[in-house]
Amino acid sequence: MSENHQVLFRKYRPQFFRDVIYQDLAVGSLQNAFKSKKIGHAYIFIGPRGVGKTTIARILAKRLNCERPDGVEPCNECTSCLEITKGNSNDVFEIDAASNSGVDNIRELRENVKFNAMGGKYRVYILDEVHMLSGAAFNALLKTLEEPPAHVVFILATTEYHKIPETILSRCQDFHFRKVPVTVLQSYIETLCTKEGLKYDSEGLFWIAKKGDGSVRDTLSFMEQAVIFTDGNLTGAKLRKMIGYHGIDTFTDFLNQLIDTSQSAQIFETLENLFQAGIDLSKFIWDFIEFLNSLLLIKDNLADRESINIPQEDLQKLKQNYRELDREILVLLAERIFSIHEKLNLMKLRSSYEMKVYLEIQFRKLILDREKPSVSGLLAKISELTKLVQGDISTIPDSIEPVKKQSQTAIPTQEKPIPNTNTQPIAKIESPTPEIKTQIPNSPTMDKNQNAKEPSPSGNHPEDMEKLLKEKFSGMEVDPKQFKNL
Ligand SMILES: [Zn+2]
Repeated sequence: MSENHQVLFRKYRPQFFRDVIYQDLAVGSLQNAFKSKKIGHAYIFIGPRGVGKTTIARILAKRLNCERPDGVEPCNECTSCLEITKGNSNDVFEIDAASNSGVDNIRELRENVKFNAMGGKYRVYILDEVHMLSGAAFNALLKTLEEPPAHVVFILATTEYHKIPETILSRCQDFHFRKVPVTVLQSYIETLCTKEGLKYDSEGLFWIAKKGDGSVRDTLSFMEQAVIFTDGNLTGAKLRKMIGYHGIDTFTDFLNQLIDTSQSAQIFETLENLFQAGIDLSKFIWDFIEFLNSLLLIKDNLADRESINIPQEDLQKLKQNYRELDREILVLLAERIFSIHEKLNLMKLRSSYEMKVYLEIQFRKLILDREKPSVSGLLAKISELTKLVQGDISTIPDSIEPVKKQSQTAIPTQEKPIPNTNTQPIAKIESPTPEIKTQIPNSPTMDKNQNAKEPSPSGNHPEDMEKLLKEKFSGMEVDPKQFKNL
């Protein structure tokens, strides 16, 4: 099996324009050029690596010299087509500009273009990685591009558009190639799995496509490795193991431990377990940051964006579980943990043990910071109390204790948590309550069992109550900078 898969990329390299995936814009323009018989003498293909620039350049070269073209497509059967496929055509020259970047190389090329085509109509020069040419080499090339012989076609290819001199660009027709989206790659490799008789599941293909990062070549190279690693069974579970992805459960547990202060101690247990299992802690922290960012994208309704590193199945689960989670908490956590990770990389610690110790200290600090009252926490509390005051139940509780309990036992995945669920601000909140009571001389019997809803006493509007509560908080020592520090 491995023998077949070593040639996967070459085996499935498109030989016709119609077989190229996702580059409709470039392919369509080239096909139109053939339809209108307006063949240019210099093309520049711009785009990321592995998306089909060289492949399309070869198809273009074939079509130019094909003896029996079929409309806009080459026949792939004539001598010229077969020679180009094999890479031994006397009329098509593939030059790697990275290793032939000097002016002498281009001078040699200029001498070479004078000769007529041997078999076909055109001599085609494909200059790969053309941005690597030296300044003098570009100047030499420019002279040829200014007055190209009628039988010569240049196809320049580059991943770095900005490094190409404007004078060169102005002589070429430019074609832009795009990264291939994960969904497109996923369905493409699914067809290959069927052709190759491989077992797979949707998540397995997702990880392969994701690993390809928009490049067909990289996707297929990784697929080859995956076929060997999984023994031809490309399932999500096996692929996760292969790429060292922890799965969302580990991350959701870790997030819950960070949000819910009653679970704080478990953070250290998690770090210890990861350390004992030999997991790369730096990678774990980075993956967790990525996970937080994905949750934020879900909040912004951008969850289906290509950049999300979460399979579709897990995405639905996260959408459901974290719908109510405060966006602000996520931003602050992501920012803090990002800076922890950044420092971790700069420190160049010698061992995973040192890394664990460093992380333990950093997370302890983060927990301590969380226990300080935050402006956002207080505002949330005020807003909650205001809602209570606006209620129309004719009873009033002794204190706002039920509110406190509710916030402390809140399950992050179900209830909207309050950024800092410590008792300090709540203890202070209790003080205004007796005053509220004294303003209601004729209040009916207190019923503690009834839920905490307070009446709107006559002459005491909810707005006044909110004002009163805010006044009570105004004396508290709350440093707005904590907002930054979480
Ligand atoms: Zn042909």
